[in-house]
Amino acid sequence: MKGQRGGGAARPQHLRTNQERNRDDTGADRGSPFVQPGPDPSNPLHTQPIQFVGSFPDPHVRVEPELPEVAFIGRSNVGKSSLLNVLVGRPGLARVSGSPGKTTLLNFYRLPGMYLVDLPGYGFARASKGARAGYRKLVNDYLRTRSALAGVVWLLDIRHQPSNDDLEMQDLLAGSGRPVLAVLTKADKLTRSALPQRVRELSQALGLQQDQVEVTSSHSRTGISELATSIVAAAAQENV
Ligand code: GDP
Repeated sequence: MKGQRGGGAARPQHLRTNQERNRDDTGADRGSPFVQPGPDPSNPLHTQPIQFVGSFPDPHVRVEPELPEVAFIGRSNVGKSSLLNVLVGRPGLARVSGSPGKTTLLNFYRLPGMYLVDLPGYGFARASKGARAGYRKLVNDYLRTRSALAGVVWLLDIRHQPSNDDLEMQDLLAGSGRPVLAVLTKADKLTRSALPQRVRELSQALGLQQDQVEVTSSHSRTGISELATSIVAAAAQENV
């Protein structure tokens, strides 16, 4: 797992479907060593201007100019907004919520050479059957038909076993054939000594090699510049 070793960036790769359907929501909150926000010279996304383009309900929306897109997806409350904000070094860019949101819009952010696309979070306990089906269609259409999509950053909370919703998403991602980078969030919630074992367990539960997984924390900044490097590399490989 490269983020942890500090040895460079992981590469988004194709996923295999995983039949495991376990739910185990254990994990200790160890508190976190918060660091002061500030530009990080090792993060290639910190040096670039970024602009919010808009929120769109249509997965086929045309954005001009056409540029490679890197999408972010994860269960609601996984830490997606926080991660986006630290990745680009703009604390207020994406809204961080204490409670799960209800948005079903695709948020586009433009960098000079790519768009970052914030896909809606999944896994609301109270979502109706219709809402779930609508969500699934929106995300599936985006993942399968978007010609500019260079890769997907799939977020999972490091403390939790993949939920049924996560495993359903894994199937959607695998079926889309897109390069995927699995990113484990909130690493500051675990002790340093507990991390390697946890990464092994989660990689195994997801059927992934450990180098398909990046460990991150938005609060301690673990793995953030490595993830930014992976994103830049994924976008550079896409010929729109
Ligand atoms: P989203 O719903 O996936 O966009 O998640 P948010 O970014 O809104 O975060 C949900 C909650 O998790 C908020 O209370 C955040 O402060 C918290 N959170 C997000 N990232 C981290 C992290 O790296 N470490 C810790 N300890 N908490 C985090």
